[in-house]
Amino acid sequence: MAHVLLINPWAYDFTAFDLWSKPLGLLYLGAHLRKRGFRVTLLDCLDRGDPDSCAPKNEGPRKLREAGCGGYFREILPKPAFFSSIPRYFKRFGMPREKVLARLWNLDPPDVVLVTCGFTYWYPGASVFADILRRMFPRAFLVLGGVYPTLCPDHAERLGFDAVVSVADPLSVSRHLEGLLGTSLGIRTYEDFFAVPPAFELYPRLSYGVVLSSLGCPFSCTYCASRILAPSFFQRPPQDVAEEIRYLFGRFGVRHIAFYDDALLFRAESHFLPLAEYLVRLNLPVSFHLPNGLHARYVTREVAGFLKRANFSTVRLSLETAVSPWQKQSGGKVTNELFEEAVHALQEAGFSPQDIEVYLLFGWPVEEEGDVVASVLYVRSLGLVPRLALYAPTPGTKDYETFFSHEEEPLWHNKIAFLYRRGWSKLYEKLQGKEKC
Ligand code: SF4
Repeated sequence: MAHVLLINPWAYDFTAFDLWSKPLGLLYLGAHLRKRGFRVTLLDCLDRGDPDSCAPKNEGPRKLREAGCGGYFREILPKPAFFSSIPRYFKRFGMPREKVLARLWNLDPPDVVLVTCGFTYWYPGASVFADILRRMFPRAFLVLGGVYPTLCPDHAERLGFDAVVSVADPLSVSRHLEGLLGTSLGIRTYEDFFAVPPAFELYPRLSYGVVLSSLGCPFSCTYCASRILAPSFFQRPPQDVAEEIRYLFGRFGVRHIAFYDDALLFRAESHFLPLAEYLVRLNLPVSFHLPNGLHARYVTREVAGFLKRANFSTVRLSLETAVSPWQKQSGGKVTNELFEEAVHALQEAGFSPQDIEVYLLFGWPVEEEGDVVASVLYVRSLGLVPRLALYAPTPGTKDYETFFSHEEEPLWHNKIAFLYRRGWSKLYEKLQGKEKC
């Protein structure tokens, strides 16, 4: 049977941190390919647990390290001309290049290579791999997929891959792949896609697991690409998700599991609440994390109680801005009133103010500096921790069409680059220093 190599490339960026970051879509495809008899090999350049990985200079905060997260090994690179005005070092994050090359040299030549790319502005990693793979494995069929080719299809076509999958919805990706491989993967529904657990066994060891209990989001915020990446909203049966969590703990011994959902609490009565009940009954020694933030409007007293009882330790609420007109204009997912009710419910359930982090968008083009400062002060006035999430221009979103439709170079989507373009770096540092964001 054919040999398929899966690659998660290096991150080329000013900053990067492993916050429960795994190429989940690629791992699902790996699982389906293995099920159909393909020989599958994984090269994840961002796997900190790989024996070829090197210790980073900065391991990150203790709380995150204890939850399996941490800094990447990094090498400083010459800055692309595009970034000459950005006063920060540009780096390659992940395994040292020579170790990656040695690993590839020692591989049986693959027939097909699937390369993913998580952010539009990380495309240099995919581009470098296109060159390396072409030289090392001239007969292999090279396929590029992921967020970058979905949001920047024309740009991605120019990188030199044999095929570019410019959709991210699992069913569309599976159909493309079946066409390229000339064989059926047996994936006709979302139920089929989620019927196998992601191929985590391809990692030598895991310091955490990740799980996706639902696909997409029913909202359409003007700054977010969720609807483009997952046009249909789908929730998995809660019992299946709980069983997958039991499997992750039983097979890999992971004590920390992050949910990748965009809308975990939507229709909580038929999804999150039964799932949390299963988790409470399983009573595994596992902490759960929510890196994507929760919808405040769905955090009722019952939901908050189950978050606590099921051992969700990292609770983040997505407020984005406390300025009411901007909340409405961007899609109306939250109001300050709903937010305060959610905070109250969480505190009643036993979460301390220090356990509740609040995402605020920083650098969003519709806002002025005063709006962000007002939002930070509002969050602080409730005794909570604001976490500034740097805005990154995202192609396909309404805000991108409004403010950046003329931009073609994906490097400009980099959030640090945009911070400097907006001239807000000083304010960011000031707030970051004060708020420890
Ligand atoms: S609610 Fe969150 S995930 Fe959904 S569209 Fe808005 S920002 Fe994106």
